Amino acid sequence: MSEFIKSARDIVGEASVLTSKQALEPFITDWRGRFKGEAIAVIFPKNTKEVSEIVKLCVKHNIAITPQGGNTGLCGAATPLANQPQIVLRLDKMNKVRWVSKLHDSIAVDSGLILKQLQMAAETLDRLFPLSLGAEGSCQVGGNLSTNAGGTAVLRFGTMRDLTLGLEVVLPNGDILNLMTALRKDSTHIDLKHLFIGAEGTHGIITGAVLKLFPRPKQKSIALLKLEDFKAVTTLLLALRESFGDQLSAFEVMSRGQLEVIKETMPNVTFPFKIDSAWVALVELSDTRLLPDLAPLLEEMLFENEPLYSEALIAQNSSQGEAFWKIRHSVSEGSKNYGYVISHDSVVPLEAQEAFVEQISTSIKRLLPEAKLAIHGHAGDGNLHVLGIITHHLKLEKAKLEGYTAVLNEEVDRITHALNGSISAEHGIGYAHIKRFKRVTDSVEMTLLKNIKTLLDPHSLMNANKILGEKHE
Ligand SMILES: Cc1cc2nc3c(=O)[nH]c(=O)nc-3n(C[C@H](O)[C@H](O)[C@H](O)COP(=O)(O)OP(=O)(O)OC[C@H]3O[C@@H](n4cnc5c(N)ncnc54)[C@H](O)[C@@H]3O)c2cc1C
Repeated sequence: MSEFIKSARDIVGEASVLTSKQALEPFITDWRGRFKGEAIAVIFPKNTKEVSEIVKLCVKHNIAITPQGGNTGLCGAATPLANQPQIVLRLDKMNKVRWVSKLHDSIAVDSGLILKQLQMAAETLDRLFPLSLGAEGSCQVGGNLSTNAGGTAVLRFGTMRDLTLGLEVVLPNGDILNLMTALRKDSTHIDLKHLFIGAEGTHGIITGAVLKLFPRPKQKSIALLKLEDFKAVTTLLLALRESFGDQLSAFEVMSRGQLEVIKETMPNVTFPFKIDSAWVALVELSDTRLLPDLAPLLEEMLFENEPLYSEALIAQNSSQGEAFWKIRHSVSEGSKNYGYVISHDSVVPLEAQEAFVEQISTSIKRLLPEAKLAIHGHAGDGNLHVLGIITHHLKLEKAKLEGYTAVLNEEVDRITHALNGSISAEHGIGYAHIKRFKRVTDSVEMTLLKNIKTLLDPHSLMNANKILGEKHE
């Protein structure tokens, strides 16, 4: 192993290879602190050539590689959990904007660029990069691509996949695949970038990307609405779409249980309303023109739909709008503070959301009465995160919590599948959900996925023991 470490240091420099137990600690544990792996080193390459050389070195020594971005993933996908020697490959030092084109509305970046910095780079060009999520201050473009991240703007702009024009990838044999194009159309062959988007680092290491930019909104109108049942939520969504079309840029919901959890555990979050309704919806309208003013139009539309909600608050200025968003962006942190989170990432067709909420709520109350039921998510695209949170106060043992998780997962998967949904809309499978993924995936689809993996990564070194399990089994 010392020969491997010495060669790695020759490639990236002494200071870019960490090996001490203390230095490795933050990189071998996941964001929730639920999974802890092992690694012989954490390596920080500075450019694509160095990534390629490190990958070739790993192949030579039969060492597995866990690519890691900001380590904010929620399913253990970035934690080194293979049963063989492995390294963590961090992309932090590859964080540059490579080029921009205002004419093409596109930006080329290194994959280690933090999402927030990408948003800011777009802003300085008077453009919008629309991906937005609670972890945007630490997650990286490579992680966003590899999980096909969704966030709060999918309703209007799609997922990370939809925002991507080109990619640069270091393949599992160390070859560099250059697909860094800004072309909006190309019919010469199948679009190879899709082999890597959403692959959670199991097909290669993404080192660069060309991403779409959009005109920057000149105005926004943000509102919070209290609703008493989910039927009212979907009726309101439809009414907003019909009135505002693409000006509706976000439609998020939080259940009463979810708001109570945030209130209890996040003292720095301000609630401008009493938590007494079954649901609160956060609505955002935006427009690239300054006129007509959206706020009075939203007010008028809400006035016409008054029976749907019990209270409506329209932000009077941008800081109030940000305060509304802060509540929404506090769900993950607040839930983690409250207790052991058994979380789900289901997406169902919009018509099935009401049935989904009803069936899931009944099941969780029956199966796990001691859990706090909290639901939040992107109701505008059908992705609801259902959480059963076991408060830390109960001090339950790990084995008991894992038992509860298995019971709840099975029920959520059954309901999601029956409603023609998917068990992972945006977080991925990683390590945590391998069994669940196998349970719900059709055998023809599974065989194809395994064959693609074997073709690209015959030695199974790339993020080993994720999605398909150890050695693709
Ligand atoms: C508070 C909070 C809120 C969140 N909200 C959302 C949300 O609304 N929507 C959403 O989709 N997700 C959300 N997430 C999950 C997470 O932030 C996203 O999945 C994010 O895209 C992960 O990026 P990362 O850089 O942290 O990746 P990591 O966690 O470091 O890695 C995730 C996966 O990508 C792989 N990977 C990372 N970089 C590369 C690379 N360069 N090449 C190949 N593979 C790579 C890793 O191996 C791993 O499989 C949230 C997480 C938190 C903590």
